[in-house]
Amino acid sequence: MSDLNDVVAQAMQLYTELQEIKKAYVPQVKQAQPSFSKDEWKEHREKGILLFKYQKPVLDEVLCLRLADEICDCIKRNRPELKDLLESIGQIMDRVADGFFSGFMQNNNRVSATDFSSSQEEKLLNFVVGQALHPSLETYVSLLPQEVGDDQWQHGHCPVCGVMPNFSYLRQEDGKRYLICPFCGQEWYYRNLVCPWCGNDDHKSISYLEVVEMPGYEVYVCDNCHSYLKTYNAKKAASHDDWVLEDVKTLALDLIAQKRGYACPGKQMM
Ligand SMILES: [Zn+2]
Ligand SMILES: [Zn+2]
Repeated sequence: MSDLNDVVAQAMQLYTELQEIKKAYVPQVKQAQPSFSKDEWKEHREKGILLFKYQKPVLDEVLCLRLADEICDCIKRNRPELKDLLESIGQIMDRVADGFFSGFMQNNNRVSATDFSSSQEEKLLNFVVGQALHPSLETYVSLLPQEVGDDQWQHGHCPVCGVMPNFSYLRQEDGKRYLICPFCGQEWYYRNLVCPWCGNDDHKSISYLEVVEMPGYEVYVCDNCHSYLKTYNAKKAASHDDWVLEDVKTLALDLIAQKRGYACPGKQMM
């Protein structure tokens, strides 16, 4: 268990720094209030069309590149063993053409280059680019109408960008469950005992597990598709960090769920 504690402490250090670095970029993001025509809004609400289909965030590619560079430096400080990999990622970033970040979003949040030297390089570059987009995405989300993600959205994926959740929480006032998008940060309501991955609502095959060492957290598991989702229960716990750090802090729960044969398809961690 102490090895695991070290891993969690190191990950918390890295992610806390990453969160701070990204936060400093938010005031530099210039994003006008997203606007949708009446028809678009109706289509989004009634047919479940993602908001990104109508209007994507405005991206300042120079700002994103600068942030990506800082993110690489931060990872390098925290994970010296990744130095070589980060240097080759830095070289790729030096050569990217204008429109690289919007291309990433158009390509299902993946860099489309095909000449990666390893799958580890590809994974890390996708992580860095996704992180560098966060201030722009979160600013966009903060300017959306309040109704986005309310009980009219009945899907397991994010109403804004379509990405699957990596974490959820139960609201203190009414116990309603909200899923959290790891890509753009949007939250949306989703019925408690329904699996967001496969839509299974048979209560007999959905259950949750808890560990005494981590009060306030539950892991919902679905025996139909063998997926899990970590959940913070505001009724059982006093306070929480931002959701990114909550996800990192509860790494032990991922290991327990994975040991029992469940997977979380929405995970986007390093
Ligand atoms: Zn999203
Ligand atoms: Zn399921």
